[in-house]
Amino acid sequence: MSDIKLKPCPFCGGETQHGAYVAYSLDSSFDAIECENCEFYFNTEKMSENDAAFEFNKRPIEDALTEQNAQLKAGNTELVAKIELNNKLLAAVLDNRHGLNGSDFCAIECLVKNNGMLLQKHKEPNNA
Ligand SMILES: [Zn+2]
Repeated sequence: MSDIKLKPCPFCGGETQHGAYVAYSLDSSFDAIECENCEFYFNTEKMSENDAAFEFNKRPIEDALTEQNAQLKAGNTELVAKIELNNKLLAAVLDNRHGLNGSDFCAIECLVKNNGMLLQKHKEPNNA
């Protein structure tokens, strides 16, 4: 019995287990890791259960996407922090509006509005 926890089925996400796949067309069976939900099986003949579990759990594309997703989330968090800081700075400038002309004031209001939209856009993925 392997002590390595099997990952879910790569196709449907169902639970998987070690077992003996019955190939009716060949009138035989062989060791396999099988999905309990769909027809997927991973042939593990001539492997120990630990080796089979190790090979089955290899998911290079999934691992790369998970890493990329973590990096994107970190970048997003950084962007949100920068936008929030810019909003605070802009609010402080607007509070001390002495010396600002009408054009400056409009430009700052436009920046605040754009920052609000950027913030909404970049906060949503983190809240999902
Ligand atoms: Zn499945």
